[in-house]
Amino acid sequence: MSYRNRGSKKGLYITLLLVILFVGAGYFIYTSDKFERQAPTIEVAKQIYWNYKDPLTVQLRDNSGIKSYTAILESSKGRVTLDKAQLTNAQKSLTLKLLPPPQLDLANGRAKLVIDVQDKSLWNFTGNKAHSESIIIIDRKKPELFVVANSYAIARGGSAVVVFYCKDDNLKEFYIKTNFGKKFYAEPFYKKGYYAALIAWPLQQKWFRADVIALDKAGNRAKAHIPLYLKERAYKSSNIKLKKSFLEGKVADLAADYPETHDMSDIQRFRFVNEKLRAMNEKLIHTLSSKVPTERIARFAIHPFHPLKNAARVANFGTHRYYFYEGRLVSEAYHMGLDLASVRHAPIKASNPGKVVFADYNGIYGYMPMLSHGLGLYTIYGHCSQVFVKKGDEVGRNETIAKTGNTGLALGDHLHFGVLVQGIEVRPQEWMDRHWIQTNITNVLAQARRMIDTK
Ligand SMILES: [Zn+2]
Repeated sequence: MSYRNRGSKKGLYITLLLVILFVGAGYFIYTSDKFERQAPTIEVAKQIYWNYKDPLTVQLRDNSGIKSYTAILESSKGRVTLDKAQLTNAQKSLTLKLLPPPQLDLANGRAKLVIDVQDKSLWNFTGNKAHSESIIIIDRKKPELFVVANSYAIARGGSAVVVFYCKDDNLKEFYIKTNFGKKFYAEPFYKKGYYAALIAWPLQQKWFRADVIALDKAGNRAKAHIPLYLKERAYKSSNIKLKKSFLEGKVADLAADYPETHDMSDIQRFRFVNEKLRAMNEKLIHTLSSKVPTERIARFAIHPFHPLKNAARVANFGTHRYYFYEGRLVSEAYHMGLDLASVRHAPIKASNPGKVVFADYNGIYGYMPMLSHGLGLYTIYGHCSQVFVKKGDEVGRNETIAKTGNTGLALGDHLHFGVLVQGIEVRPQEWMDRHWIQTNITNVLAQARRMIDTK
């Protein structure tokens, strides 16, 4: 072993150590948060509608922390810094709430929002940078909105119509807001910018209020109240005694399709049919009847509904039914239609043209066609023995669509006639009354057309 050899070995060790140190340092820099190479992110839309009132929200994020940022608004009228900061305690996430600068009073028009961010990473000596530019469309005008005409009154459980005007360059949405959370939607009516909607006061709601709301993309909001005189209506309640033959017959048959009911007692099974199955069947009806057509209409010439000739009314709309078995209250439900009876297997006629949206079996409603008459008005015909129409058919006025029967939860042969406005059951009596339709619907729409024409 020579010195030379020992020397070169020593050199090799040093070189190796240096390499390890160098690679290690490099690896440290490469993987360390302090040297991360990821640019900050700026969460901001490429195009923003701004009402020049509410703060514009911009979200900044960075893994090593944000060191500095600037937010500048550029327009033909000038260039203003909305916000800038040098942060001593770098933050990984920062929400900017940019407010319109008092010194730059911009009217409707365009501007540019420029954002620059730098993180505190030691990479590249200056850190990682991010830059973003967004087009700002300044819209300080709220939608133009007013009620043109509406029904004078609405009854609890009943319907009304409203026509309104709504216009905005950047309109986002408009709807009718109610005190019970339901939103009604309108259909384009007669001329550009005008809309009509049927609205309903649900039977179980104590009071009613409705306002048209319009929102634009910049967040400007307009509201127009629909002035309606509220009419209270009395609804009856009735006590029904359940018979064992009914529980073991009709009810057991209806429950048979549901395995969870097989081990139930007669009363449990009745509750299932009257409550759970009813809710499922009604949900289908509500869903199918909540759609509003989008094509423009000029007229809504609805005729009074008389689905069954020479019929007797055997049960009312809105009755709160209490079911008793052996003297004990076992279940309850609201009757959401009108029951009509004449002869067995009597022909059911469509009193108004309509599109068939459903024609199938629907649990407690049995065989049930459902028609859409436009403007969100729908009718259902329950317990049919025979149905002559199918989904998608267009039916004409006075066309026979089905025959009465006792399918579903029905004791004798009768028709359950239901009317719905955007998914809400309403008083069929109103839509069977020529005078009511004339006063509350037809005349209001005619008055609206006259007002639109004279504008
Ligand atoms: Zn009924």
